[in-house]
Amino acid sequence: MRSEEVTGFGSVVWEGESISYTVVYSSRRRSWAVEVKPDGCVIVRMPQQVPPEKVRMLVEEKAEWIFTQVKKYGSRVGIVRNYIDGEMLPFFGVEYPVVRKAGAVAKAEFLDDCFVVTVPEGFSPDASRDVAKDMIVLLFRRIGFSPLEEIIGKYAPLAGVEPPQLRIRLQERKWGCCTPKNGIIVNARVLLGPKIVAEYIVVHELAHQRYRHHQKSFWDEVERLMPNYQEAERILKTDGWKFVF
Ligand SMILES: [Zn+2]
Repeated sequence: MRSEEVTGFGSVVWEGESISYTVVYSSRRRSWAVEVKPDGCVIVRMPQQVPPEKVRMLVEEKAEWIFTQVKKYGSRVGIVRNYIDGEMLPFFGVEYPVVRKAGAVAKAEFLDDCFVVTVPEGFSPDASRDVAKDMIVLLFRRIGFSPLEEIIGKYAPLAGVEPPQLRIRLQERKWGCCTPKNGIIVNARVLLGPKIVAEYIVVHELAHQRYRHHQKSFWDEVERLMPNYQEAERILKTDGWKFVF
């Protein structure tokens, strides 16, 4: 059975450019390694117990090599969203255009299959972009709630657990986690990916309600609940870096 899990991600900066990486923890691993795939995605493999700060430190030491590799493959470095007119933004993997407006109050709405973002005038371009981003994240947390609740509603009975309380948050390095009081937190970034990814993150956390570890019994339960979960893990490994606001 598998002992690997995508549980983290981060980004490393070198000479003003940023590259995102995915962290795969493995209970079998004793040393760490970094791999740059031909499609430019960076996978950092770590033993189970390495804390995120240590991961970042190790990756930073290798930054120059990582950037050289990524550039060798000619891949794009990072994704920058400006939330301006016509820019496409994915929600559960389906892309919708952004419509940018000026108005008295900053807000974002999903109207007629568009993300309508209103930002007051008078901000610098950077500040205006940040306001638009904050509004979009708030909107995603709002409209992402019921689809995720639906997934919980489908899988909690199968897992034989009480539907946990759901929270959606923009998090630095985890796709999902459990709270001590039977709740689950899903990273808002998950909403930028296809639905199968959201489904997997929910299933993963639901399975943790009974199996608070990553041993074989846990992975057996994940597989029982969602036989195609490895497809979602594959997407997280190759495309997870693109799911950014
Ligand atoms: Zn886990």
